[in-house]
Amino acid sequence: MTTPPSHTPAPTRVLVLNSGSSSVKYQLIDMADRSRLAAGIAERIGEGASAVSHQPLSTGGETREWQGELADHDAALAAIAKELAADGLGLDSPELAAIGHRVVHGGLKLTEPTVVDDAVLKEIERLVPVAPLHNPANVTGIRTAQRLRPDLPQVAVFDTAFHSSMPEHAARYAIDVETADAHRVRRYGFHGTSHAYVSRKAAELLGKDAADTNLIVLHLGNGASASAVRAGRCEDTSMGLTPLEGLVMGTRSGDIDPAVVFHLGRVAGMSADEVDDLLNKRSGLLGLCGANDMREIRRRVDAGDAAARLAFDIYIHRLRKYIGAYYAVLGRVDAVVFTAGVGENAAPVREAAVAGLEQLGLAVDGDLNAAGGKEARLISPEDARVKVAVVPTDEELEIAEQSYALVTASPGPGPEGGAG
Ligand code: ADP
Repeated sequence: MTTPPSHTPAPTRVLVLNSGSSSVKYQLIDMADRSRLAAGIAERIGEGASAVSHQPLSTGGETREWQGELADHDAALAAIAKELAADGLGLDSPELAAIGHRVVHGGLKLTEPTVVDDAVLKEIERLVPVAPLHNPANVTGIRTAQRLRPDLPQVAVFDTAFHSSMPEHAARYAIDVETADAHRVRRYGFHGTSHAYVSRKAAELLGKDAADTNLIVLHLGNGASASAVRAGRCEDTSMGLTPLEGLVMGTRSGDIDPAVVFHLGRVAGMSADEVDDLLNKRSGLLGLCGANDMREIRRRVDAGDAAARLAFDIYIHRLRKYIGAYYAVLGRVDAVVFTAGVGENAAPVREAAVAGLEQLGLAVDGDLNAAGGKEARLISPEDARVKVAVVPTDEELEIAEQSYALVTASPGPGPEGGAG
C-alpha cells in the first residue's frame, strides 16, 4: 500500500444488526477481507434477567457472558457497544462504514437495500399490520442505532426483497382482487437474503453464470422455505403473506386448508389469535411429535418412535411436493440446493427428499451426502443431469455485502427504490 500517512483509509467495517422484540443479534464484519471481527447476541431485553453473549473473534478470545438488566433496545445496544469497545472495536470507530439492519418486511415498495431516512422508516412502520411480530422490533433497532451514530448510514436489507421479482401469477392469491389490494393480501415470501446469497454461491459452485442458472433452493432451518430461482431471480417461493405458508417447519404447520381455521373457530371455539398461536408455535414437527429439532427427531426415528417417524415422513412428503412443483415451474433445473441448519447438516433429509427421482435426473451419492463439511459442495453423482448441492447460508455476510455495496456506490443518505 502506498497510502500517505495523512490520508485516512476509507472505512470498511459493517455492523450487522438483527433486532427482534426481545433480542439483538450482531456481527461486525470487515469487508476488506470479509473477516468476522465480533459476533454476539443480547437477549431477554426488557424482561429483567437480560444477558449479552459476545464472541471476540478478532482476538480469538473466549466468549464473554454478561448478565444484568437491559431495560430496552437502547440499553442493549449500549451493552453491545461496550463489549465491542473492550476489543478495541468501539462503535465510535472511523473504520465503521455502515450499520446494516435485517428488516423482515419491505412490502412492494422497499425491494432494494435502502439507506434509511424518515420516509423509509415510515414505510417500514406502515407495513406493521402485515409483519406485526418483526417490523416494530426492526424499527426500534434502527432508531436506536441512529441515536448512537447519527452520522453513519443505516442500511435496511429486506427479507422480502429477493422475492419481489415473483410474477403476479405466483404472487397473487386467487381471491377477490379488491379485498386483496385493500388489505395488501398477497404472497411476499421471506428468507430472501438467504435465498439470494445461496443462489449466487450455488451458481459459483456449478461454475455457471447466475443469469444462466435455474435452481430450486431449500432453506431448511427452524423456519423453512423453498424457492424457484430462474436466472438469478426468484420466480416463486413457498412462504406467502406471512412465513406460515409452505413447508412443514419446526413449529409452523406450513400449507393447510384455510377452512381449518373456520372449523376450529366453530367447533372448538378458538379465537383467531388462538389459531394463529396453534399454527405458528404449536404445529409443524413440534405439534406432530413433541420435538422441533431435527437431530432429536432423527434420534427418535432410529430408536423406533412412531410419532417421530410420522413427523419426519410428513416433513419429507411436503418437501418432495415442492421440489416437484418448482421443477414444473422452472421446466429446466440445474441444481437442487440445500441450506440452513437442517439442509446443511441432515443427510437423511437430503437423501429422502430426492429418493426415487432419477426420472427427473435427481439423485444423491451416498458417500458425498454423508460426508459433512462447512464448504459449499456437490452431493450428486458425477454424471447427474441435475446437481444436488449443499451451500451453507450466511445472511449476516449478505446483509454486510449489500450494505457496503450501497454505501460505497453512493455515499450519503438518499433512499434507493425509496419509500415513495
Ligand atoms: P433458524 O431457522 O432458527 O435460523 P437454523 O438455520 O440454524 O435456524 O436451523 C436450526 C435447526 O437446524 C435446528 O432446529 C435443528 O433442527 C437443525 N439442525 C442443526 N444441526 C443439525 C444437525 N447436525 N442435524 C440435523 N439437524 C440439525
